[in-house]
Amino acid sequence: MHFSDLGIAPTILRALETAGYTSPTEVQAQAVPAAIAGRDLLVSAQTGSGKTAAFLLPALTKLSARSTGKGQGPRVLVLTPTRELAQQVEKNALEYGKDLRWMKTVCLVGGSSFGYQTRALSRPVDLVVATPGRLMDHMRSGRIDFSRLEMLVLDEADRMLDMGFIEDIETIVKATPETRQTVLFSATLDGIVGRMAEKMTRDPQRIEIARTETSGGTIEEHLLYADDLNHKHRLLDHILKESGFDQCVIFSATKAYSEELADKLSDQGYSAACLHGDMPQSWRNRTLNDLRRGRIKILVATDVAARGIDVPTITHVVNFDLPKQAEDYVHRIGRTGRAGRDGTAITLAESKEFHKVRRIEQYLKRQITEGVIEGMEPTRRPPKGPRRNGKPGGYGDRRPGSGGRGGYQGNRREGGYQGQRREGGYQGSRGPRNSSDRSRSNAQ
Ligand code: AMP
Repeated sequence: MHFSDLGIAPTILRALETAGYTSPTEVQAQAVPAAIAGRDLLVSAQTGSGKTAAFLLPALTKLSARSTGKGQGPRVLVLTPTRELAQQVEKNALEYGKDLRWMKTVCLVGGSSFGYQTRALSRPVDLVVATPGRLMDHMRSGRIDFSRLEMLVLDEADRMLDMGFIEDIETIVKATPETRQTVLFSATLDGIVGRMAEKMTRDPQRIEIARTETSGGTIEEHLLYADDLNHKHRLLDHILKESGFDQCVIFSATKAYSEELADKLSDQGYSAACLHGDMPQSWRNRTLNDLRRGRIKILVATDVAARGIDVPTITHVVNFDLPKQAEDYVHRIGRTGRAGRDGTAITLAESKEFHKVRRIEQYLKRQITEGVIEGMEPTRRPPKGPRRNGKPGGYGDRRPGSGGRGGYQGNRREGGYQGQRREGGYQGSRGPRNSSDRSRSNAQ
């Protein structure tokens, strides 16, 4: 399958060549021709599957033909859950649409100048990428004209609902013309997302990508149990010293702790910074730029702030805290193993948190290989017993071929990692929510 078989405008095909894309990923092969044909789409695809291009290529193909509609509002509107993801989508749109010289894009996200955005909206605009909250602010001030909107994209719709944007989304959808084409991407199309999707689409084509195609590289995963917080710090020290990481993202459950940990690592001499939702947007952007340029080696981040980070040089992800929601595990580890490179994801869990690990594994429909670092084994073991589906093999079990001690050896030179290798992204049903039992604030 070639991009040229999908109906994409020739100017955009050239940009894809420049970007180094040789063939479409599975979600692109299925979604692009259907969207170009004008169908409403409900697509379940994970981050890392190439989903952004799957909706941008049809959107840009639409924009490659001049509008016949009156007005100067956006012809395409993309809604995303977070600022970083919105910025990433706009960046990709400018990359794939670089030869559409007349194309004007605006990114409407909180934390950036409202006045600048208002001025941008006072001129003709083709593509708006927005988070629901900031878009609503502009709608309330009467700045947005949806009269010529042709296409509405909801990216990571499940995530937007998780973040409480359902009413905003419903209001935004109502404000757009009924003639629009609607394309919705979500990790899952079950439950409330499915019900919302049915209401806002017409005869939609469902596309379910069973397993994301490997536009990303291989991610090795390890699970290390610890007795307590101090033990986790010792494990982290060891990982940072021994793993030979190039750049690393460490996930913390709370904003406060992400700052504390980043400070601690800076004191130890690492070029470390934190990224969380309370930081001013300009600061967040600067941090991400420093990460891209390699000036920051360790980013300590919360889930919300780190979504959408696409930096191919991130070699390691460390889950210092377990994610609150099982699906966040997938998003977190997807920060490494990008652009065809390999990555390593190491999850630290206190022994008493074994049930949370189980929930993540139930969501993943597979086990994460448990390992130990010699001399730093946990004194308390998680209880043995069936890990899932009643299959034998308790937490103390070692996998065949895992070198007896099973697991993380710290360093590729000495026998390398013993963890499981997975290709590309991960797919699974929505897992149950759970909460961290350390008493830090939950906000991200
Ligand atoms: P996404 O799932 O949209 O976050 O995309 C994951 C990564 O894959 C991004 O770094 C894209 O630049 C890259 N990508 C998307 N489509 C392709 C493709 N057809 N070939 C190679 N890389 C791609």
